[in-house]
Amino acid sequence: MESLFAEARAVRTEHYGKEVFFRGLIEFTNFCKNNCFYCGIRADNRQVERYRLSLEQILLSCKMGNILGYKTFVLQGGEDPFFSDDRVVEIVGSIRKAYPNHAITLSIGEKPRESYERFFAAGANRYLLRHETANEEHYAKMHPASMSLANRKQCLFALKEIGFQVGAGFMVGTPFQTPQTLLEDLRFLEKLQPAMVGIGPFIPAANTPFTDKPGGSLEQTLRMVALTRLLLPKALIPATTALGTIAPDGREKGLMAGANIVMPNLSPKAVRKLYSLYDNKICTGDEAAECRLCMEGRIRKFGFTPSMVRGDGVR
Ligand code: SAH
Repeated sequence: MESLFAEARAVRTEHYGKEVFFRGLIEFTNFCKNNCFYCGIRADNRQVERYRLSLEQILLSCKMGNILGYKTFVLQGGEDPFFSDDRVVEIVGSIRKAYPNHAITLSIGEKPRESYERFFAAGANRYLLRHETANEEHYAKMHPASMSLANRKQCLFALKEIGFQVGAGFMVGTPFQTPQTLLEDLRFLEKLQPAMVGIGPFIPAANTPFTDKPGGSLEQTLRMVALTRLLLPKALIPATTALGTIAPDGREKGLMAGANIVMPNLSPKAVRKLYSLYDNKICTGDEAAECRLCMEGRIRKFGFTPSMVRGDGVR
């Protein structure tokens, strides 16, 4: 494991030096029409208190983020029908107008190609849509019949064609995952060649079909991060919040295994706890400024350099 991580670190250093790019994450809605078996904010979870941020609240989060130095805003949410294409275009357009040179990343699920085209035209640059698993049977065991891997993959290729920097990825240790399905995940990444890859451990969430299933391990997640770095040397790979949730130094270990991104939270403190994809999520009590400082300290401690550049990645 140590030599694998050292190899992955060497590859990341070759392309990105010691820099770790910061992205400001704004979780703007926890309403979702979908029912993914693993996810804490699935539609059928009636125990979740739902929230939506207004355009003003979103812009205020961006303002705070900008003051703190962020050059990328990541807008993530459930698939919330309230945020129609028109509303998303309005949000993206408003952010673009206020911050002409920042990167705007969307992570709002599967949409028709035309919607993605409108978001791109409004000024969005990047899109995160984890494929979750590249194996059909495995996908069917994690999602209701209304969802399909074929559509998710089609979305990813469409996003790429439109011109987005695309992020794919998967959870490690989901129920029914095998070494074979993980290999298929890597093969899919090889084919898609995404700019970004999000990898985190599966963590059971209350009131979901998978609530009693075991979570993914730190070791296996780090192994997949390192292998992904070797497979896609120039990829932007976050040390995820989920990784930091299963181990106090999980994100630092992620960086040591080849990750080069962190995504501190910019959402208003009042709603942090409500965006509960999984149980015991960290940093839900912190202000945006605290998250920024805390991550900076952690990064420096492990010999890396926090970087607030836009960080589009090397070609
Ligand atoms: N609606 C958007 C955003 C989903 S949330 C979309 O469909 O892309 C972002 C990611 O959180 C998901 O892609 C999934 O990989 C991860 N996630 C969801 N539930 C999780 C859980 N229980 N444990 C760990 N990660 C989870």
